[in-house]
Amino acid sequence: MRVGQTVQPLSYELRLPDAVQAAALRLLDASREVINATVAALWERLDDFGERETKYAYKQVTALIGSSDPHGDRQWRCEAEQAGRILRGQARRKQHFSQILPLLEQGMILPKGERARAGKNRTAIKAALACLRDEHSDGGSAVELQSLIEQACNFYLSLGCFPETYEDMQAVPLLKVGILPYAADDGGLAGQAYRFRMDVQGRCCYLAFRSPDEQGVWKASWTEPQIRLPLPDPVVQRLQAGERLAPTLREVAEPDGTRYAVLDLNIEVPAAPLPDPQQVQRVLGWDWGVRTLVTATVLDLSGNRLSPPLFLDTGGFDGRQAHTRRHIDRLKSKVANLKARRDQFAVGDKRREPSERKLVILRREIARCWRKYEARNNDLAHLAANMLILLAGVWGADLIAGESLKSMKSDGRGRGAKGRWVHWRNNSQIRGALWKCLRYKCHLSGLHLAWQHASGTTHTCPHCGKPANTYACPALDAPVRDAGAWLRCFACGWNGARDYAAAINIALLGVASLVQDMAHTVQRNPPKRPTMITKNLNSESYTGSGLALRLPPTPLRGCLERGKLFVNGWSKSVTLHSALSQETMLRLCG
Ligand SMILES: [Zn+2]
Repeated sequence: MRVGQTVQPLSYELRLPDAVQAAALRLLDASREVINATVAALWERLDDFGERETKYAYKQVTALIGSSDPHGDRQWRCEAEQAGRILRGQARRKQHFSQILPLLEQGMILPKGERARAGKNRTAIKAALACLRDEHSDGGSAVELQSLIEQACNFYLSLGCFPETYEDMQAVPLLKVGILPYAADDGGLAGQAYRFRMDVQGRCCYLAFRSPDEQGVWKASWTEPQIRLPLPDPVVQRLQAGERLAPTLREVAEPDGTRYAVLDLNIEVPAAPLPDPQQVQRVLGWDWGVRTLVTATVLDLSGNRLSPPLFLDTGGFDGRQAHTRRHIDRLKSKVANLKARRDQFAVGDKRREPSERKLVILRREIARCWRKYEARNNDLAHLAANMLILLAGVWGADLIAGESLKSMKSDGRGRGAKGRWVHWRNNSQIRGALWKCLRYKCHLSGLHLAWQHASGTTHTCPHCGKPANTYACPALDAPVRDAGAWLRCFACGWNGARDYAAAINIALLGVASLVQDMAHTVQRNPPKRPTMITKNLNSESYTGSGLALRLPPTPLRGCLERGKLFVNGWSKSVTLHSALSQETMLRLCG
């Protein structure tokens, strides 16, 4: 790897074989106790962890304290590393707390009414967060600040006053599931807490570790024979390109009580260098859709639209997710009924047993459904991120512009969909997952990624920049709807899908901030990011010219074709709509 080259950390989870699961869990349990004792002992010195002289957290810990249950230097070093990471994270949170402390005020709490319970005033919290809005962050720290404000409000709701210090409201954070990072500087063979060897050619790795036995006595010897873990293809590819970091042993605890140990392989792969901002010629803008997951389009720096609208439609995905959630609800009510039946009998009564047996099966089924639900969300996030990067590549866009996570613009969207789970795509899980995927994938692909203020992007004409309404449908006499699917500007006559308008507007903001950055590279205080009100650029026309060199001609607009794309993990497909032919879409996706 070249000096100065940026890298992207990636992590892959390998489940340990059943034969060593019990030993690995005993090791994790023993380590967890030491880690928790260490964090508790150092909690009063939290501020010390706000500053770091070394990248290794364990050095900071071992300088202050020794192990509560020593089993070799290297084992303690691993435990100290984890304790140090927790304390460093908490120290950072405490620093953020000092930012929100002056903003805490009673207006954030809604007093108890005649009917309503006391609660949080979301509007006041949002306003306070807006004050803190960091112009150049993607919302990651905004999420953190919000969680701190919420935690402070919960403190108020239970105790009647705001916390004065961070430690007032934050209990000592103890690990509930085991995690043991193998300390980073031990090297593959030297570590005495574990032995680890990677055989990339043989597509496998070997692990041995020490652990306490069933009686809690630490064994002097290693797990024998060495555990052989096969490496999946993507991991082998990453290993060939990247640099291996020390792995982490981790416990996975499922809601039904099942526990198992995994080894996280950590790899640092080189990221593609970012193009010079001066060289960026095209910007891909995308937005969360009302009826589609994502809508994207590509602009040049003059605001000309080069691509047709591209919609990523999730097809039957919503329905399948809703089905799974309903199934989970049904299982939960069965669990409640069974518990009631079981509790008719005293503890120790044999008649409890049939219910107990069924409960185990039901809980396992609930855990399985949750896994399926989350895996689908993650697959979708990966698919959407891959599609955006692919489209940026096809149209030669070096900057991807999207709506900031913290804008919360998508609150209350999804009207028209049925049922209780219509907001699934607005929930922070899927949005957060997509941002996370997009961030590291852009980093790996050498694409600029920029977050835009979303305010006004769905209710501004992309052609003339004047405020515009959205309507229930394209008909001229359609009623105005705040979440309507069609945007029509009566000032200039432009009309189109609202999601498309929003994607153009977000791309325009991306272009405006790029142009602005280029003009202000030497200024010490960067100018404020453009908003829909301050940007001085509109989208003049649709040219389609960007397509000419890279893709076959598109069919007439309005004649939408569908391409089917199969995604690993779920056998059903996602449908992509665009003005490109099916053949082209399949080529793009394959
Ligand atoms: Zn207009």
